[in-house]
Order: sequence, then structure tokens, then C-alpha cells
Amino acid sequence: MIDLATAIELVERTAAALPPRRQRLLEALGRRLAEAVVADVDSPPWDRAMMDGFAVRSADLVDRCGDLVELDVVADLVAGDVTTRPIPAGGCARIMTGAPIPPGADAVVPIESAVEGTAAAHAGARVRLREPRFRSGQHVGRRGAAFRAGQEVVPAGAILTAAGVGLAAEAGATHVVAAARPRVAILSTGSELVPCEEVPTHGRTRNSNGPMLAAAMAALGAEPMSLGIAADRPEAIRAAVSQGLAADVLVLSGGVSAGDLDLVPEIFAACGVEKVFHKVRLKPGKPVWFGRLLRGDGASQTLVFGLPGNPASSLVCCELFVRPAIAILAGQPPDRWHLRRCPGTLTAPARAAVDRPVYLPCRIASTGRGLAVTPLPWTGSSDLVSLAVADGLVALPAGAQAEPGLAVDVLVFPEEDGDPPA
Ligand code: AMP
Ligand code: MG
Repeated sequence: MIDLATAIELVERTAAALPPRRQRLLEALGRRLAEAVVADVDSPPWDRAMMDGFAVRSADLVDRCGDLVELDVVADLVAGDVTTRPIPAGGCARIMTGAPIPPGADAVVPIESAVEGTAAAHAGARVRLREPRFRSGQHVGRRGAAFRAGQEVVPAGAILTAAGVGLAAEAGATHVVAAARPRVAILSTGSELVPCEEVPTHGRTRNSNGPMLAAAMAALGAEPMSLGIAADRPEAIRAAVSQGLAADVLVLSGGVSAGDLDLVPEIFAACGVEKVFHKVRLKPGKPVWFGRLLRGDGASQTLVFGLPGNPASSLVCCELFVRPAIAILAGQPPDRWHLRRCPGTLTAPARAAVDRPVYLPCRIASTGRGLAVTPLPWTGSSDLVSLAVADGLVALPAGAQAEPGLAVDVLVFPEEDGDPPA
């Protein structure tokens, strides 16, 4: 059995950033680009109307600001229409936003500047325009004004945002090369487990770890792949583990402690997974197993976590060990590897353990004198009720007198909207 700090350090040392991957635009949202996005077209792709109005020749209006100018409407153009017929002197085209400026025209007079009831003038009619401050080129989006074909529109190193996705899409990129989203296979072991859609009969337990661990992985920006449930039979576990070893990370739950059917460590060994540690001085989560499968090429590996089956233990181990592994694989900087750790003060007694640190669900409140940390009622390692509404985990050192006033550390859960509560 090893100390928690040593175990975390071993995870940090074993995990390594994955090489960037080519991925679909939407998958890369929020990830750092490893290669710039290069445009395959100009934007705007041609000179285009930026307002609804009349496409005119500047020569017909340029010295006549404020005068009444009457022009023949020779064409009607809406977005998507294209014409090759030049606008003659004294003529104009009725044009809607987004349509290409026809040959000969070089400015747009907004529809609001049509006077004397001529705003509705279509091809064949005449329009009277009064433009108080006309300038050549007005309301025309010039071809290539935003970017040119061949130009880097989103630089390498940028985080892909929604606007970046839009820009890359406009620039013709269906895929980008960005920091890899780690693929995480999730496997629940236990002959007693039933899918969560079922009502468990006597002796059976719903596989709550499966969806919980998938959710935790999704929240970390990883790509969860559910392998479902494997019964406690060596062949069943081995087949599922072999499948999971194709992923970047295999997160398995159950079967890693000391019971008769805790077959997982042996199966990992039989599959060539090298053990890094098994059992950590920690409550809950003592039986946790960690190792890796080095692939034939010597460069790539699958990280393998065997989490305890009890859901609260599983989640605590996921936060302490799997979280940093995913962050490291995704190439995140060290300050993003772990839950934020803050000092606080205990407001109520809690049950510490003599032999190992305890991590309990808690509420965290900001006060004038720092963080007030209140342990939530918790019946043990199968109990998710408090964890589901906790602000974080309070760390009680081994042997602590966990009375009100004790200085403690808390690990703060990120909030749904990204802002931690304190
Ligand atoms: P184990 O770690 O396999 O000894 O399981 C410890 C406890 O956790 C047992 O009560 C199991 O029924 C329960 N358990 C194991 N796996 C799961 C799971 N996927 N979802 C919910 N409970 C589980
Ligand atoms: Mg079991």
C-alpha cells in the first residue's frame, strides 16, 4: 500500500501528452489547435451587397450628395442570384443583402434612401434616390476584405471557440488538427450488475458506475466509450478488457479488492498490463489499481485504472487519479491537472480515520475569514447522495481530530458553468 501523494505522482509520471489528432470541427471545440486553419476561399468570396437597396455606379451619384437622382432599375438581385449583365450609366439593380454586386456597379444605396414612394421599384421601373452622404464603395463587402485564400485564419495554438468553428467552416475546413480528446473505455465488472434501465431484482445492483464514469470523462473533455457490464468470469472480463485496451485509457470498476471474485488484477497481468500500483492509503478508494499497457511500437500506451466498485469510492478515485491522467493526455498545463485545492476551516465534526486520509463530500461557503467547510452526511463508500450535491471533497489527514475549527484542505468541484463556488 502506498501513500496518496506517491500514487498521484506515479500517475503524473506515467501519463504523457497524446500527439495532436485530426478531428472533426465540432469535436475540437474548446481544444488547442496544433496546426493553423488555412482558407481555401476569399471572404467575402466576391464583392457583395451589405444592405438591402440599389446597386449603383458611383459616377452617377458621387457629386450629387443630397440631390434627387433618378435611375432605371435594370435587374433584381437577391442573395444567390448572379448576373453578368453590366449596369449601364444611369441604371441600377435592386439588390438584397448577400447578393454579388453586378458588373459596373460599385456601391449600394440603402432602400431607406429611396424617396417619393419608389422604395419598391423592381426591374423595369425607376427609383428616386436621395443620399445625403454618398461615398464610392459604400455598403459593399469587398472580395477578400476579411481574409484571402491561402491565409491562416485561425492560428496554431489558439483554442477553438464557436466563432473559430464558424470561421474554419467558412474557410473550408471540415477537420482540424488539435489537442487529442483522450478516448476512454469504461467497463463495469460484477455478476450482480444490471443495466440502469432495469429495476434490479433481489441481489442485483444497477450499474451506476458506468454512466457516472462516462459523465466524469465527458466533463473532462474526454471521449467516453461504454463497454457495458462484464460478469465476474475470467473469460468475460478478459474479452472486455482486451477490447478496452485499444483505447487511450481503460477505466474499469469493481473486482479490484480482496474478495473471492476480485479477478481483475490477474486478468490485467494476463493481458500484459504492467502494474504501477495497487492499493493506496486513502478512504474511500483503498483498493484502486493503476497500470499501463505499453504497445509494440514502444511509444504509445493505454493507461489502465481499476477503480473500486462502490460508487463513491469510484468517484473519489476518478477525481484524484483519472482526472490528472486525462488532463495530461490532453496536453493541458499542470495547473489544470487537479481539482483546485484550497485551505478552509471545518465547521462541524467529521469522522476521520487513524490510518489513512479521508475524503468526504462537503459544502463550501466563503466567509470573511476564508472558506467554511461543512462535511455532508455520508453513510459510506456506496453512498452517492451527498456527493451528488457536494461543492467539493474535504481532506481529513490520517489521525486528525476532526472537530470544528480544524484547518483542512478542500478539493473544489468545478461548477457546471465553469465557475468554482469560492
Ligand atoms: P467490488 O469492488 O467489485 O468488490 O464491489 C464493491 C461494491 O460495489 C459491491 O457492493 C458492488 O455490488 C458494488 N458495485 C460494483 N460495481 C458497481 C457498479 N458498476 N455500479 C454500482 N455498484 C457497483
Ligand atoms: Mg465485484
